[in-house]
Amino acid sequence: MRYRYRKIRPEDVVTMKNLRANGATFKKIAETFGVSMSVAQYHLCPEYKASSLARAIKAHKNRVPKKRNPEYIKNYIKDRYQNDEIFRKNFISLVVKSHKKRRAIWIKNDLCSECGKVRDEEKFRTCRSCRARKRNTYAKKKEKYNE
Ligand SMILES: [Zn+2]
Repeated sequence: MRYRYRKIRPEDVVTMKNLRANGATFKKIAETFGVSMSVAQYHLCPEYKASSLARAIKAHKNRVPKKRNPEYIKNYIKDRYQNDEIFRKNFISLVVKSHKKRRAIWIKNDLCSECGKVRDEEKFRTCRSCRARKRNTYAKKKEKYNE
């Protein structure tokens, strides 16, 4: 299954603009990038972009909430993560950001900074099982490098 999502990168828009300035038609530009003509028009005509965004916002406001299949969403994210570099970067930074936020709340409330459970000892920031897990991973890594 092929998922549909944005294929045009910011540097492609620059190329598109150059092609257009040199007299290429929308059709020709669309063919060059393997997209539909409306995609080329969207990136090259500010009026077209504005009107299509307005249309999209209107449609979004009038939409009927759709029940999403969790399996579909999972596969969509996986597929896009593997094929879309910008999506991958944004996804990672989002995950890191949300984890940082959660960690800050946990630390503030004197909970384990790894899992958020009650810490058993005051002097450590993490709980006993998290420390054991970390030790384990570290030992495995060490073992791997010594092989
Ligand atoms: Zn923990």
